[in-house]
Amino acid sequence: MQTKFKLLFIVTLMLLALGGATIINVSLNFRDYSIKGAVEKATMTAAVVKDGLTAHMVNGIMDKRQYFLNQISNNYDDVHSLWIVRSDNVIKQYGNGFGSETLRDAIDTKVLKTGEMLTEINEMTDKILLRVTIPYKATMNNDGTNCLSCHDVKNGDTLGAISMEFDITNMRSAGFLTILKILGLNIIFIIIVLILINHYVTPYMKLFSNMQEGITKAHSGDFTHKFTTTVSGDGKQIVSQLNTLFQKMQETFGDIKYNLATFIPQGCVASADPLYEAKTIIGELSDIYKFKKTIELDASKEVVYTRIIDILTNKFEVEHFAFYEIDTVKNTRKLIYITKETSICHDEVDKKADLCRAHRTKTDVISTDFVNLCQYCSANGDYYTCIPFTINEENSIAISITSDCEDKINAITTKISSIRNYLEAAKPVIESKILMSQLRDTSLRDAMTGLYNRRFLEEFIGTLMSQATRTEETYSVMMLDVDFFKMVNDTYGHDIGDKVIVEIGKVLLDNIREADLAIRYGGEEFIIMLHNADQKGALQVAQKVHVAFGALVFEVGNGETIKKTMSIGMARFPEDGDTIWKCIKFADTALYVAKTTGRNKIVEYTKEMSESGELR
Ligand code: GH3
Ligand code: MG
Ligand code: MG
Repeated sequence: MQTKFKLLFIVTLMLLALGGATIINVSLNFRDYSIKGAVEKATMTAAVVKDGLTAHMVNGIMDKRQYFLNQISNNYDDVHSLWIVRSDNVIKQYGNGFGSETLRDAIDTKVLKTGEMLTEINEMTDKILLRVTIPYKATMNNDGTNCLSCHDVKNGDTLGAISMEFDITNMRSAGFLTILKILGLNIIFIIIVLILINHYVTPYMKLFSNMQEGITKAHSGDFTHKFTTTVSGDGKQIVSQLNTLFQKMQETFGDIKYNLATFIPQGCVASADPLYEAKTIIGELSDIYKFKKTIELDASKEVVYTRIIDILTNKFEVEHFAFYEIDTVKNTRKLIYITKETSICHDEVDKKADLCRAHRTKTDVISTDFVNLCQYCSANGDYYTCIPFTINEENSIAISITSDCEDKINAITTKISSIRNYLEAAKPVIESKILMSQLRDTSLRDAMTGLYNRRFLEEFIGTLMSQATRTEETYSVMMLDVDFFKMVNDTYGHDIGDKVIVEIGKVLLDNIREADLAIRYGGEEFIIMLHNADQKGALQVAQKVHVAFGALVFEVGNGETIKKTMSIGMARFPEDGDTIWKCIKFADTALYVAKTTGRNKIVEYTKEMSESGELR
């Protein structure tokens, strides 16, 4: 609304300035015009006087001239005074004349001398007088008025002058009246203009401040504002478009925020601004994604722990903390990392992990909530926050953060949900690393190739599958079998056959990642299980293995060499089958198709293969 008053003020000022300029202009013109009118009147009167005097002279009644002059003066109301003066020439010829005809002032003298008319305005407080002094010149006209016939002068000489004083006081009053009229009209005009502006501009101004309010709210992320207006046409359209836009923004950001938040179960920085929150969540997601991708390729859970420690130190800027690994089955705790020399926890907690309040209660222990909250902690005046985190039924971790500054510990406490997001991301990775380390047990491995054996598959497939189902992991299952292997045995002997089998083991290990599994399933039959690989990636691995094995050259004695090929069948868990066993069976089905359709090829399982009755 302030803008409206500003606008009205500026318009008023402009109209007042315009009115002022008009009044000044009119007053000046009016004055000029009035003076000009009076001078013209004086000139005409002077001509009448001159003609009258000439007539007096011609008629020889010059001595009656004063009566004539008085009459003129009396008949014209606004002629204040009137007198005539004689030039030296006339005085010399006819004498001084009446006493009233002597020079009265410098103007009379100047006009007689120069022969030029002079005017003067004499403004007094009560009246304004216009003085006009007009010279009489000797003329020689054909109409019989020949001045030279009576006057002893040359044609054009000044004979005398007539002076008149006009009262033009009325002009001033008329001027004032005119100015008042103009002023009045101006004020009426200004009022009308202001009323019109107010009438037409107010709805726009209201719309403007309404928009301003909405945009200010939007700036802080609130798109709930409803725009309203009484303006029709374009204004109404803009309001409707703005409302649609804001509604979309509110819904979209709400959806984005909601959907993004589902990726971060522990939550993120809560803000009233959905844009800011979405940006923060995306930033957090991106960091967590990179973190997860990195730890997936790490060799062991110990390396993953180091990554978490790095995140705590560098990202969350935690100065002092201890990181513990807890064996829930044995109820023991192991210190993995500490920034200070000693832990705040009592020593017995390591032997009896459930003494740790955070671990036992599975809730964060924050010392600022309650004095001496954990009975098995000697913080020596420091503040602490302990975060428990469960990996699986047998394994947990605990992070104990300490600080001598209450503000610092409070700041860290607000970041616990973000720290937990990282721990959540690390959880399946740590779980699979733990599983992997258990799987390194030699009884589960094939002595000839070093790969896992069939027993491994039978014992661990259940654990693998339930973990994969829980964390939505996938496995691409490949079944590999050497083509016409029996012929190698039959032709070159078992030793050469064994050599080929050992080489297959190497080829498989060379082409898979840490998280993948290679299993010797039977004689010269192998299984590969690729962890979290998409269909394209899995096919690429199969092709690499296929090509690498096909390129191997085996010496079979007497300088002779042979090359072998293999057939591969592929199926995907859980896409093709809801258990890994089913997928192994389907991969075998696909392998059978490869064998029966020419061998030396890779075949991906399709449903139609199972439907075909001739398959084994
Ligand atoms: P196909 O192309 O149909 O696979 O023909 P194939 O001759 O390879 O047939 P199959 O896969 O059934 O042959 C498996 C043979 O592998 C049978 C067995 O003699 C041989 N075998 C199994 N285990 C070993 C082993 O440990 N060492 C050696 N040298 N041979 C093995
Ligand atoms: Mg074979
Ligand atoms: Mg075989």
